[in-house]
Amino acid sequence: MPVPAVPNSFALALAELEARGLRRQRRTVRRGEPQTADIQLDGRRCVDFCSNDYLGLAAHPRVVEAFIGAARMHGVGARASHLITGHQAEHEALERELAAYTGRERAIVFSTGYMANLGLVAALAGRDADVFGDCLNHASLIDGGRLSGARLHRYPHIDVAALAGQLAVRESGTALVLTDGVFSMDGDFAPLPALAAACAKHGALLAVDDAHGLGVVGASGRGSLEHFGLAPAQVPALVGTFGKAFGTFGAFIAGSEDLIEMLVQRARTYIYTTALPPAVAAATRTALAVSIDEPWRRERVLALTRRFRELALAVGIPLAASATPIQPILLGGVDAAMQASHALLERGFFVAAIRPPTVPAGSSRLRVTLSTAHRDGDVEALVAALADLLVSA
Ligand SMILES: *Cc1c(COP(=O)(O)O)cnc(C)c1O
Repeated sequence: MPVPAVPNSFALALAELEARGLRRQRRTVRRGEPQTADIQLDGRRCVDFCSNDYLGLAAHPRVVEAFIGAARMHGVGARASHLITGHQAEHEALERELAAYTGRERAIVFSTGYMANLGLVAALAGRDADVFGDCLNHASLIDGGRLSGARLHRYPHIDVAALAGQLAVRESGTALVLTDGVFSMDGDFAPLPALAAACAKHGALLAVDDAHGLGVVGASGRGSLEHFGLAPAQVPALVGTFGKAFGTFGAFIAGSEDLIEMLVQRARTYIYTTALPPAVAAATRTALAVSIDEPWRRERVLALTRRFRELALAVGIPLAASATPIQPILLGGVDAAMQASHALLERGFFVAAIRPPTVPAGSSRLRVTLSTAHRDGDVEALVAALADLLVSA
């Protein structure tokens, strides 16, 4: 249920969130050994099963050195936006490497994935356009649609037939279809080949946000498109983020020369903001290279994922059908999810409870994410704790 839009007072609105179990807490994290998944959360030691650092690159020595070296050379801040004097050699090199990595003509770096999606949708879809999106898309794609002023259409999760029906009856004009590649709260894949076929048939442009697929899935880690064997022309716009598998910060969009040039000209979240710190671009270049040089990182997180599923399913833990390192455990109610998360923390595991409005009401869950940085024993111990808490003997 939505939070009241016009609260009598902020205190009342906050009390309302509290009463419904929806008030969120920030916790202060400390990391003693940054290359492990061990953290201290408000002073309590635990293993972090919530980070998006799938490949363990956030603290990789080469990535850290690249960051420090570039900061010494260029300073910390970029000093200006990209169209003024903020666009530097590190950004330019990163964009070229991302274009090569994704097999596309050109790429453009944004300061965050959230901004990349806002900029993309508003730049490609004006007020007279139709924007279609999966109802479980990431919030940034949903907000991008709203900000664009286009007519918005949401289709039921991964329901290509429903989307095709909506596309068939739309008015003429630009049509943009938006989807996560791997859904961030469910870990499942979008049916990209069928989506691409529907878009081709109905003259719509498909944009895929592969924040959780890039670096992790596909034969060489190049994400959901590689997983499905899709050509760049079938998915004209590809969004990727650096804050997930690449362990740094920022995002990019890859596409044709003209599509990217449109973003340079039109994406307000690109034009009217300070450029990403060049040292972050340098660290990301190294992270990209390490992800290619050290394929064992991807193989390990996927092996840990399979091991987690095998152990958890064997003892009857209610896992969703996900083959990616995002492994939701569906519990339904807000209280059940919160209690399980608290109980796991008591036992030394941090697994966040995900509740509305991040996920639909009645689908609150624990969301486990696996990382190369986990020890085999971490996964086994987590499953034992989950079995103890969730499976009645
Ligand atoms: C994390 C995420 C984003 C936002 O990326 P940031 O760089 O963290 O702003 C966008 N889309 C998806 C699917 C994500 O998971």
